[in-house]
Amino acid sequence: MSSLKPQLRFETLAVHAGQKVDPATGAVVAPIHLSTTFERDIDGGYSRGYLYSRNHNPNRNALEEALAALEGGAAGAAFGSGLAAVTAVFQGLQPGDHVVAPKDIYHGTANVLKHLFAKWGVVFSFVDMTNLDATRAAIQPNTRILWVETPSNPLLQCTDIAALVEMCAGKNIRVIADNTFASPAVQNPLALGCDMVMHATTKYLGGRSDVLGGALVTRQADEHFEAVRTAQLFGGAVPSPFDCWLVMRSLSTLAYRMAAHCHNAGRVAAFLQSHPKVTAVHYPGLTDNPYHALAKRQMRAFGGMLSFEVQGGQPAAMGLAAKVALFTRATSLGGVESLIEHRASIEGPQSTTPQGLLRVSVGLEHADDLIDDLAQALDQV
Ligand SMILES: *Cc1c(COP(=O)(O)O)cnc(C)c1O
Repeated sequence: MSSLKPQLRFETLAVHAGQKVDPATGAVVAPIHLSTTFERDIDGGYSRGYLYSRNHNPNRNALEEALAALEGGAAGAAFGSGLAAVTAVFQGLQPGDHVVAPKDIYHGTANVLKHLFAKWGVVFSFVDMTNLDATRAAIQPNTRILWVETPSNPLLQCTDIAALVEMCAGKNIRVIADNTFASPAVQNPLALGCDMVMHATTKYLGGRSDVLGGALVTRQADEHFEAVRTAQLFGGAVPSPFDCWLVMRSLSTLAYRMAAHCHNAGRVAAFLQSHPKVTAVHYPGLTDNPYHALAKRQMRAFGGMLSFEVQGGQPAAMGLAAKVALFTRATSLGGVESLIEHRASIEGPQSTTPQGLLRVSVGLEHADDLIDDLAQALDQV
């Protein structure tokens, strides 16, 4: 970021942040540095800044710089998956520390708390975070992290980030937002007062369903970010140079991809809402959605994710997913291709997701083709 003006607009930062012409060759596109180790100076030092690839790598440094710029943070840390980034946050806690997290949370994040950190003495409460009174009531003297995910997965509920930040002020509680569903092109939690933002770069930032990755961006380079760096260096869950390069390549088009994802999702949501066999559509862009006003306030657009419920429960939902031609039945999101998923069955037997619910990652196909495809499939269920 050092040489870029902070007032540059998102599209410009997406193209330029972390990108430099290679000084050794003049290559306009950064080379991929696969070397795991770097030469020491004669006096034993490392004047070129690189020692060993778990510590630092030119491709990872470039990605971290770009992500920090796009989220408006002081620094970023990249990881080998979204959940590795989540894990690094909780590794900064002590036994007895308490986490407040939303009930409607990415199931993998809940698993990290329940199956990895519970046995190390971290305690947690899952609350309906759209209910501010319930959230306030869940805060304890030992609460150290309030984890926010908005819009949420899979119900696309929106949480008032600024209100949560205000609720936690002066209590030594850090507010950390999983911004994966929105992407930094659509929502910037740090600007709303969050301390840290987390991304599964696997999704919109990678944008092609071909790279796994995660990241944390911090508002301030404080001791909590130092703890993240320690987890990254000592824990070692770092992304490969090639994976960093792939995400960098995709970041440059993020703003334009998100605009198209959001446009298509709005069209598909409106169509689904008008269909007699659809009993509910969860998309904050719909004017009668309970989160519409809040989403308008804290997001620049409404995102490319939606979910909907069909009449007839699980058999109808599974039947519909079997009859679409353009939507691939697969988990994940954020790629150019549209995906459809029966969420309850991937979340397992304890899932509270409605059985008739399908989650859709709306891709970059033409919206009319997506709508025609859903229409013919709905005719058959
Ligand atoms: C995918 C996802 C994650 C986890 O990312 P991985 O790269 O799969 O580990 C976390 N949060 C949300 C909202 C996600 O969609």
